[in-house]
Amino acid sequence: MRFHVDSWDPAYGSSVDAAESGSSTARIEADVEVAAASWAPIAPTPVTVPPAVLFIDGVRRVDARVWLPEPLIDPDTGEVLGVQPAMGLCASYGAGVVCSCGQGAHLLRALTRRGLFTTASSATDIATVAGTYQAHVVDDRGEENPAAVLSAALQRLLNDLEIIAAAEARSALTDHQVEPESALVVVDGPLRGRASLAMTLGYIKSHRITYLPPALHAVIAHLAAGERTPIFSMGTSWDRLSWYLRLPASQAPGDDGALWFGVVRVECAAELPIEQAIQLANLSQSVLPRYATSEYKDHRAPQNLAPIAGVERELRRRLGDPLVIDRALRQASFG
Ligand SMILES: [Zn+2]
Repeated sequence: MRFHVDSWDPAYGSSVDAAESGSSTARIEADVEVAAASWAPIAPTPVTVPPAVLFIDGVRRVDARVWLPEPLIDPDTGEVLGVQPAMGLCASYGAGVVCSCGQGAHLLRALTRRGLFTTASSATDIATVAGTYQAHVVDDRGEENPAAVLSAALQRLLNDLEIIAAAEARSALTDHQVEPESALVVVDGPLRGRASLAMTLGYIKSHRITYLPPALHAVIAHLAAGERTPIFSMGTSWDRLSWYLRLPASQAPGDDGALWFGVVRVECAAELPIEQAIQLANLSQSVLPRYATSEYKDHRAPQNLAPIAGVERELRRRLGDPLVIDRALRQASFG
């Protein structure tokens, strides 16, 4: 298959963080754990710490934008009128799981893939010396921005890969004498379609959106290290239960950044009975602070949990050198 590789743009190499995005029009229900009028910081309570915590993260990188020849067909006669270029994204992505258990922290699973995401219906896999880009043909759904449609398709496959890695990691736990169901799973980013999982938390470390009404929002400012807000339910394109938690930090910045310093949003499945959700929220207060990174080591500290930073680094290493891969794709485009 012949195709054309766009000139290199360093922006392709930058990753899209699994951060908060979407609108602030989320439906918020604050009376889940306590009445909204009684909202106040909740101190940590003694909990039984799970025998293992699994941290799941995914990384994605667009290696190149390509153009593929797509036959231009007359819808009435089926006659080929010519050729038009169709956009494609060549992307590398990976999902990994770090296990923190009695054996310390260790990489339990790391899966990487290369994919060609394109609206060209005749696209086939692209074989390169750096690996094969498996073709995923995406319906362009009319007038939508094709780059956004392709990017969303990439994100869906990355989410799927994270679910596969998580399932494999859970079953691998039996190899080191941990009951799979007893492990706490921490997913970097919102839970999205993974919400049906028990003992699973979504961990959101950056905040571009304020979800809570002002009176409740003020409770966040008063959170001491280790304290959390009451649970609230939150509905956007999917529903979940959520709470804010402040991680400990040895030094907080000045007044400007103090409100959100060390604050993360944690979520669990909306389907869970409230007692289970409260158990998970209490667990998060005891477990997550243990993994908070030191601000000397990481500029996003303390929110960037050490095991998640570790799995991210390892996955990026496994995705390979972007410039080597760019060369491999160009070479393949002449074939
Ligand atoms: Zn382990």
